[in-house]
Amino acid sequence: MTATVITGIAELVTNDEDLEGADHSEHLGLLRNAAVIVKDGLIAWVGPASRAPEADGRRDVGGRAVVPGFVDSHSHLVFAGDRSAEFAARMTGVKYDGGGIVSSVLATRAASDDDLRALVGARIEEMRAQGTTTVEIKSGYGLSVEDEARSLRVAAEFTSETTFLGAHAVPPEYVDRRAEYVALVTGQMLSACAPLARWIDVFCEPRIAHAFTEDEARVVLSAGRDAGLGLRVHGNQLGPGPGVRLAVEMGAASVDHCTFLSEEDIEALVAASDTTVATLLPGAEFSTRSRYPDARRLVDAGVSIALATDCNPGTCYSSSMPFVLALAVREMGLTPAEALRAATVGSAKSLRRNDIGVVRPGNRADLAVLDAPSYLHLSYRPGVPIASALAERGRHGS
Ligand SMILES: [Zn+2]
Repeated sequence: MTATVITGIAELVTNDEDLEGADHSEHLGLLRNAAVIVKDGLIAWVGPASRAPEADGRRDVGGRAVVPGFVDSHSHLVFAGDRSAEFAARMTGVKYDGGGIVSSVLATRAASDDDLRALVGARIEEMRAQGTTTVEIKSGYGLSVEDEARSLRVAAEFTSETTFLGAHAVPPEYVDRRAEYVALVTGQMLSACAPLARWIDVFCEPRIAHAFTEDEARVVLSAGRDAGLGLRVHGNQLGPGPGVRLAVEMGAASVDHCTFLSEEDIEALVAASDTTVATLLPGAEFSTRSRYPDARRLVDAGVSIALATDCNPGTCYSSSMPFVLALAVREMGLTPAEALRAATVGSAKSLRRNDIGVVRPGNRADLAVLDAPSYLHLSYRPGVPIASALAERGRHGS
């Protein structure tokens, strides 16, 4: 395959803290008037445009900013049905307790494979159009052996970052038989799903009747680990709880939401900052009109953070990483540079990936171009579609 030089980059964010000649004041490895050479889907060279070697092809982005493609490390894209009425009700003051998952489960079970494939494909196109180049996709709206495996088969057509979330909710038919459902998730369902997944996740929220207790979550994660899956946890979203503690104890790659944290939780995350990333999902707080996680405090304490959309039909039906960045800056006290790092190299770390999130030779050529001269516009121009994925089409996470 031929090499292409991308020129006309007014500002290039590399996240490469070792890049010579770059501005490292915000840890972005930022170069002005830069060029990037892409070959065989990988970065071959990064540097000032004036020193770019010859290449076979040339692409001029016309004075725009280029940033690492966004890594959306938390999404629930495999679902059918429409819950817009639930959102409208919630906005009039009906408190959200997560009970609406069941309606998505029924619609997802009723959908054909082709319907699900088309729905996921359309959502991924939406993401790419907004600059996302890697997406993690969870199952969790099937909640039967067959429907969870089917959800993961569909997800795997679009990304290598697939997550088995049979422990998303106790389905209605098991409400009075919780232990049986946990046994199913860790037994027959796990056997069917593990070959299709890289990760296992659990909704650990003891206050919520259809979510899972600490003991149940530990059983689910242990079984997933024994089956060779990496660990992720939904924790501390709706109130204080054991999710963060459990995630750290078990060496999970990510604990997601982290809205209600104790001092001990934060200390545990700081101590585990090489292992466990706190993934913040402010789109969920926005869409449920809830309080935001204290991202400023986490960063100041030394916690590793990531940002992702949580794109799902109930609590945040937005696929937009730029929207999440704007929320992180406006509502959670991050600088625009911190938010951008959390949404790229931070979320790559939460997926234990070092081939994405940083623009350096050898890494995947996953880039986003901004219709703006600087990355600052991502949070400065909320709701304006300035970001789009620059990488070739058809590659999302593999
Ligand atoms: Zn989620």
